[in-house]
Amino acid sequence: MVRILDGKRLAEKVKIELLAENSKLKEKKIFPGLAVILIGENPASKVYVGSKEKACQELGIYSEVYRLDSGIGHEDILSLIKKLNNDPKIHGILVQLPMPKHLGEDEIIAAIDPGKDVDCFCQENVGKIVTGNYGFLPCTPSGILELIKRNDIVIEGKECVVVGRSNIVGKPVALMLLNEGGTVTICHSKTRDLKTETLRADILVAAAGRAGLITADMVKPGATVIDVGINRMSSGKLVGDVDFEKVKEIAGAITPVPGGVGPMTIAMLMKNTIKAAKKLAE
Ligand code: NAD
Repeated sequence: MVRILDGKRLAEKVKIELLAENSKLKEKKIFPGLAVILIGENPASKVYVGSKEKACQELGIYSEVYRLDSGIGHEDILSLIKKLNNDPKIHGILVQLPMPKHLGEDEIIAAIDPGKDVDCFCQENVGKIVTGNYGFLPCTPSGILELIKRNDIVIEGKECVVVGRSNIVGKPVALMLLNEGGTVTICHSKTRDLKTETLRADILVAAAGRAGLITADMVKPGATVIDVGINRMSSGKLVGDVDFEKVKEIAGAITPVPGGVGPMTIAMLMKNTIKAAKKLAE
């Protein structure tokens, strides 16, 4: 019988733990604060930013959301980040991606103080994932690791296959699985025979952003399948990268979409913001 890895429920549990932690911080006069910068009108990004704002409210985390016009200049964003880097009320800064191309994503991410980079996208923090000397862990990959570990699924010694090699999901989750003792294969759009690779996986992480990419014949019986993909169909329905209905007949454990990795990503962002506030207070 397949286990459904319920990210929504686990995220609620994590948030209850964080609420308790935040109350203790308040007694010590530490008030975590998160600034989120949203540039442009991407509908999915607007929804994600709204969810982050709501989570801050639930946990009593101070939040500021900057909803900026896509015509804003590069220098204006950089000066906003500089202001937030120096603002003692703000412990975490997040620029919602994707951002309009002309703004130069790399330079903007690099401008965030690494101690406030709660998304863990700047080069210094990414480098720490490689060495295993973590400051922050990126939110979606750490949400995936929490889902695996808190469901008592062992990573050490397992064949882990990650489909997708982006800087924000595929590569960091692969490194984190490696740091946990997994034997990791990273697949991507140029991989010659995806099915041969995925069939070896004890733990399969699908992060390609392609609806229905992972079919039942690509999954080893009993495997843990983590579906990171979020794809909106023409009907408006949200689906992952995995053919959930068929794969759940084969897998040992599987995350749904929605209600799997997505809610965990937000819970991990809250965790990183609290962590940043504690660290800055030290
Ligand atoms: P991306 O487009 O940056 O990267 C996609 C990766 O998938 C690339 O490395 C590409 O080589 C690979 N790929 C594409 N088609 C493939 C194919 N046919 N076979 C093998 N590999 C293929 O995307 P991303 O930012 O890494 O996001 C991936 C998906 O995860 C998207 O659907 C995104 O919406 C979703 N996502 C979800 C969360 C969450 O919280 N649940 C967070 C971030 C991203």
